[in-house]
Amino acid sequence: MSRAALMNNYGTPPVTFVRGEGAELWDDRGRRYLDFLCGLAVTGLGHAHPAVTEAVASQASTLIHTSNLFANEPTAEVVETLDRLIRSGPGGDAESGRILFQNSGAEAVEAALKLARKHSGRGRHAVVTAYGSFHGRTLAALAATGQPEKHEPFAPMPDGFRHVPFDDIDALVAALDPSVGAVLLESVQGEGGVVPAGDGYLQAVREVCDERGILLALDEIQTGLARTGRWFGYQHAGIQPDIVTMAKALGNGVPVGAVWARAEVAAAFGPGDHGSTFAGQPLALAAVRAVLTELQAMDAPAVAGRLGAALRDLLESLDGVGTVRGRGLLLAAELSEEARAGRSAKDIASACLEGGLVVNGVTPTALRLAPPFVVSAEQLAEGCAILAAALESRRSGPPTRIDPTPDERS
Ligand SMILES: *Cc1c(COP(=O)(O)O)cnc(C)c1O
Repeated sequence: MSRAALMNNYGTPPVTFVRGEGAELWDDRGRRYLDFLCGLAVTGLGHAHPAVTEAVASQASTLIHTSNLFANEPTAEVVETLDRLIRSGPGGDAESGRILFQNSGAEAVEAALKLARKHSGRGRHAVVTAYGSFHGRTLAALAATGQPEKHEPFAPMPDGFRHVPFDDIDALVAALDPSVGAVLLESVQGEGGVVPAGDGYLQAVREVCDERGILLALDEIQTGLARTGRWFGYQHAGIQPDIVTMAKALGNGVPVGAVWARAEVAAAFGPGDHGSTFAGQPLALAAVRAVLTELQAMDAPAVAGRLGAALRDLLESLDGVGTVRGRGLLLAAELSEEARAGRSAKDIASACLEGGLVVNGVTPTALRLAPPFVVSAEQLAEGCAILAAALESRRSGPPTRIDPTPDERS
């Protein structure tokens, strides 16, 4: 079947996946792959997780959508749980906050930006974000994104955004003037190369925001919901943001995003200030309810911490892997120049795919690894063996698939 009628914004995909289970995927030729990317840090519970599948199927056969003119059944439990997890860190707020659902990460960021502007008031609309950040592809989220080369084709950007070097408190303080109402940061810059903020940096940002009455928003769309070894990445630093955005892992693949804010901040939104036809619908919320139940039952932050440490050890033992950075099960492996041998990380990721491992080149020199929380120790070792073969392949010819399984017969 030709894809010629599709817009070309993603380029040409190399593989068509038709089925998944846990940490494994199968393509349309029956070939098996290990999924160490999780659809970009989305499917934390793995593919076809029985509890999520059951929740979605049963909600779909009961009631998919009614609009926000009406309440629905799964929401109450979801907002109670999310609010508790968001405040569960060492510096967590005692007072409960409030949540607004959206359909994606960029929309969650848009809602956070509108909320910050409405709360801060006229004249305090500016938002400071970091270079290397990623906050989404809609116009305001793109303007917040600290990657000027992504702005250029779409100029002019909405104004009111200022970018400063990441993890540099002096640069941030220097950018704060009376027009600034909010600071927006990632606890680990995901798309920017899996670069963690120092705990001391986030603590200092929290302090200066408190002193100056500036809102601190954390974009936890990639890091949130256990991936870094805590429920939210900022919890490593023991701080509590005023606003938190979530999306990727929230629905384990069912599209859903959310914004949390302290009650006093959230109160800036009244009826009519923001909305979305689909957001918060029963189908998405039933998925979120099942995801949160499963993540808590397995103690996903502890699992991500433990498996992340194991994966880090495996990666560090590989010839051709220099430094490994990141937190929990969100890691980047910096590839040595010798191992790349003129190839980019993207080329190495293609060689991994050929060998049966899904990862991506997050920078020209680093691979991102974000396996699901249900990955086994054996699968981690198998994935690293495929990566080792891909790094070797320059010297020994094209990679051969290792560990063929019966599924490959089809
Ligand atoms: C992926 C991502 C987004 C955008 O999410 P979409 O669902 O693609 O709109 C925003 N912020 C961060 C930190 C992300 O990783």
